[in-house]
Amino acid sequence: MGWLTDLDRGFFDLIFPRDCAVTMEPIDEGERLHLSSAGAERLPRIADPRCLTCGHPFEGVLEGDRTCPHCLDLRPAFGRAVCAFRARGPARRIIHRIKYEGCPFLADDLAHAALADAVFRRHLAGSVLVPVPLHPARRRDRGYNQAERIAGRLAALTPGCRAEHLLRKRHETVSQTLLGRQERRRNVAGAFDVVAGESVDPSLRYVVIDDVLTTGATLHDCAVALREAGATLVDAAALCHG
Ligand SMILES: [Zn+2]
Repeated sequence: MGWLTDLDRGFFDLIFPRDCAVTMEPIDEGERLHLSSAGAERLPRIADPRCLTCGHPFEGVLEGDRTCPHCLDLRPAFGRAVCAFRARGPARRIIHRIKYEGCPFLADDLAHAALADAVFRRHLAGSVLVPVPLHPARRRDRGYNQAERIAGRLAALTPGCRAEHLLRKRHETVSQTLLGRQERRRNVAGAFDVVAGESVDPSLRYVVIDDVLTTGATLHDCAVALREAGATLVDAAALCHG
């Protein structure tokens, strides 16, 4: 289906019933086009308690510090990150389709479903959402940037929010997928800066948006770029925690 543009989809949806991306059952009602209510319920939602830095869920008893072991050596430039789902099962499958199978439209529905989480919703309210940029060559190959699509959808559905494409990726980095924690940090360090002609307002709160938070290295580096440009309040959010 990668060759279908979003415009084409409207036409094809008239002919073929749309199937839920999780249950594979036909759906024909509701605000989401490709994710039924039953499908959304099967997504591995993150609940409290969760790490106050990266949003990783604590699945055992919570004692003392509310920073998870992953974050102890992170010291991110963002204040807090919140994620709606674990990057597992059907959520992982949807992310894969969004990024690698030409299905950017699924990002709209996953973003919509993420906002059912009150913590996630409150975290975004009233902020400027800044998508993690792709390098222009990568964006050209893919035809879209899924983080832009997610930020746009989240902004449209969240009171007082707007999306601004403030960052650019200066140089292409090796895919993070096969890298370890330290390698990821080195790989993206200094990769982002604020687009020429754009500026940040120190009185506003910025939330950097990505599809998946894995080690937090990419979101950290985007937060560094915003802070270097003068932002004082910088947080982060991703649909899924890897
Ligand atoms: Zn954490």
